[in-house]
Amino acid sequence: MSGATPGAGSPAVDRPGSGATPGAGSPAVDRPYADLPERLAAVRRRIEAVARGRQVEIIAVTKGFGPEAVDAAVAAGLTAVGENYAQELLAKAAVGAGRDAVRWHFIGGIQRNKVATLAPHVGLWHTVDRPSLVDAIAGHAPGAPVLVQVNVTGDPARPGAAWEDVGALVSRGRDAGLDVRGLMAVGPAGDPEQARPKFAELAALAGRLGLSELSMGMTDDLEVAVAEGSTIVRVGTALFGPRPQRADLRR
Ligand SMILES: *Cc1c(COP(=O)(O)O)cnc(C)c1O
Repeated sequence: MSGATPGAGSPAVDRPGSGATPGAGSPAVDRPYADLPERLAAVRRRIEAVARGRQVEIIAVTKGFGPEAVDAAVAAGLTAVGENYAQELLAKAAVGAGRDAVRWHFIGGIQRNKVATLAPHVGLWHTVDRPSLVDAIAGHAPGAPVLVQVNVTGDPARPGAAWEDVGALVSRGRDAGLDVRGLMAVGPAGDPEQARPKFAELAALAGRLGLSELSMGMTDDLEVAVAEGSTIVRVGTALFGPRPQRADLRR
């Protein structure tokens, strides 16, 4: 517990479009994430610039931040909250104001043995990537809304189902009674333009499979994702600032 950095590393410092007054009267000192409404407005402007009038849901990704990030999100009207780790989600779901309003999105790798404890909390599972997970979620959360995560880069070190396995996984989810809503992907790191063809291909595949939701786009590549048809963006850094590096959060 370091009381020195309540805002988890001075979010004001790298605020997009700011920089005029570095360190001057950091609002985070008085109240963690006090600048979240401004940051959210900036994210909304980035989306609106490319969405051509479409609605895009913003998920506040609070992984790595404390429960006060969830408090701030709820206060700012962001009730869709994303977490990557079961322990963190459970801890943050248990404390803080306005938790009843939160719809938790599970966006990290799912361990099958965590599905039972997560099931009562998770509103949308983004990262279904193998048959055994379909079966586990169908068993513990019958009819749950899910997305199938696709490894759009083909890099075997990255999570997600291979392109050629997505159709079968979607069918298996439907057969198991899950509410398969769409596809999810993390774009390749680096130049966001490299993500564009991958996102376009994901959108085309979702269309062929009759799926309406596309969870794609993060802080660095949300314009490209939204331009290619994203319906859900998952945003952490742009809303809360740089994540604290905590060894116990790395896996
Ligand atoms: C951490 C994370 C995000 C948010 O990333 P930012 O770059 O901080 O916006 C989105 N999606 C997934 C799957 C993540 O792990």
